[in-house]
Amino acid sequence: MSDSRDSSAARSRHNTFAALELERVSEHRDDTQWLAAQRASPHAQFVVFDAEGRAPVAGDRLLLLDAATAPGDVAVSFLGLRRGGAPVFLLRNGSSRAPLDAEWIGLREAGTRLPPHDAGLLAYARGLANWQDATRYCSCCGGQLKLISAGHRALCTQCERLHFPRTDPAIIVIVEHEDACLLGRQALWRPRQYSTLAGFVEPGESLEDAVRREVREEAGIEVIDCDYHSSQPWPFPASLMLGFTARAAAREIHLADGELEDARWFTAQHIVESVRSGELHLSSPLSISHRLIEHWLRTRSGIELMDVLRTAPQA
Ligand SMILES: [Zn+2]
Repeated sequence: MSDSRDSSAARSRHNTFAALELERVSEHRDDTQWLAAQRASPHAQFVVFDAEGRAPVAGDRLLLLDAATAPGDVAVSFLGLRRGGAPVFLLRNGSSRAPLDAEWIGLREAGTRLPPHDAGLLAYARGLANWQDATRYCSCCGGQLKLISAGHRALCTQCERLHFPRTDPAIIVIVEHEDACLLGRQALWRPRQYSTLAGFVEPGESLEDAVRREVREEAGIEVIDCDYHSSQPWPFPASLMLGFTARAAAREIHLADGELEDARWFTAQHIVESVRSGELHLSSPLSISHRLIEHWLRTRSGIELMDVLRTAPQA
């Protein structure tokens, strides 16, 4: 089910939060002199969040503090360099310096409103901030942690163990059998919303085994083959979504583990008609689930999901 027109790199860049254009230059994170020079640069930019994790925007533009407005005596985390060389930092507790008329929005809204690079920058900064907030004490000895390496490592002040930013891999998969794909829904979702199946990767598990296990556990379906599609940073609070396409051995569904309230096979025509009639709601364009369904419709039936959604009733 691969799409010969593009690569996984191109597909990933198309995913929300995955179009960051920043060189992380991680080799400089322990170079205090270099970092101090970047911090003092008149071109330096600073990402800020308020206490609720929201970022300031004006219209569809992300507002960053500049060198003149960012307080100089506060610790910052270095995020990377823009193409022109401007350094970008994460500034914790700097929200009071943002323009007074700024509008504050959460990451999900940022994903739908901001240009792809800005959404990616916020996802990166939010993910790092989430980890810093959740990493105060050593998980081995309970000692206090101190951020080092420009905010990208935490060192235990007691046992000297190093702690690294955590990312939790989760697979998400569109399973097909002949002319239909498998979508499911959880009881908590809004009525008539269906999505591709997903779940966290477990210790000692390959991504492909995670795909097989999740589909079997949630829908009782045996996957006979799967391929990587694309990935998406998903810092809610620390996931990395790994999208797959897969083929099923047979269609008989058995909701094995109770995670799904319902799962069904949908043909392309069934999706188009149900979306247009309002009987089926798909995940937001923000999500990789949306991209996987879009990809499946396009490669299997030449149907553009955005065209279908344009004619759907507003949810
Ligand atoms: Zn420790």
